[in-house]
Amino acid sequence: MKLEILGCSGGIGKSLKTTTFLLDETLLIDAGTGVEQLTMTQMLKVRTVIITHAHIDHIAGLPLMLATIYDQHQHPIDIYALPEVVTALQQHIFNWTIWPDYTVLPEHQPILRMHTINVGDQLKCQGYDITALPASHPTPTVGYLVRHDSGSFAFSGDNGCNDKLWPVLNHEKPDLLIIDVSFTDDVQELARLSGHLTPSQLAQELAMFNHYCPIRITHLKPGFEDCIMQRCQQLIPERDISALQHGETLIINHTHPSSSLTLTGSITL
Ligand SMILES: [Zn+2]
Ligand SMILES: [Zn+2]
Repeated sequence: MKLEILGCSGGIGKSLKTTTFLLDETLLIDAGTGVEQLTMTQMLKVRTVIITHAHIDHIAGLPLMLATIYDQHQHPIDIYALPEVVTALQQHIFNWTIWPDYTVLPEHQPILRMHTINVGDQLKCQGYDITALPASHPTPTVGYLVRHDSGSFAFSGDNGCNDKLWPVLNHEKPDLLIIDVSFTDDVQELARLSGHLTPSQLAQELAMFNHYCPIRITHLKPGFEDCIMQRCQQLIPERDISALQHGETLIINHTHPSSSLTLTGSITL
């Protein structure tokens, strides 16, 4: 699997985009401002978008992408999300006030098809086996475990302390874990209230994770990236932990153990 990191920041700014991962050129995991990194040709290849939750940093690129490819698309785009998220998108985004309702446009073949997925559900799509993972966040949220013949990875979504996640991941043993650590240890209470992790909380959470795989940190608050990452590495030296980077491409292929996770090239932002 080729996973391109189009956006992985907790905010925006020069070179910073919000959560958007592109899998094998056709499947988007969240559609934040990282969608801006795609060319028209790349946007037209996207068939499926799996969404973790309705917060704007995870969906901002979706309505704009649909409008951009509207005249040229050949196939509908299938969206999968929790029922509450589908309802939120319909009521608050595709409501003709904020943006057109692309589930009915164009009339002969609407560009957008919405589908629901619940925690624990398994979705078979485009050759992937996708499981919705439990997440802890102030609005209905999931993470995703994605499996393919070549390997697997888990993405926590936006997620705070969550003891429901680890039994699943201990069982599934992903080749890679991407997890949200948004805040520094100085603001534990803010992290708790907003459903994100701090480095200390990550250390407590990982004590429940008995599988060792590379761990990539996402959703770091702009300006605090180095501080958060130094603290993670200080508290959890036994783990392979590093920050996810904008523009990197991860190759997840467990049939070649020596290169199970490879960094190849980068996009210039
Ligand atoms: Zn969120
Ligand atoms: Zn977020």
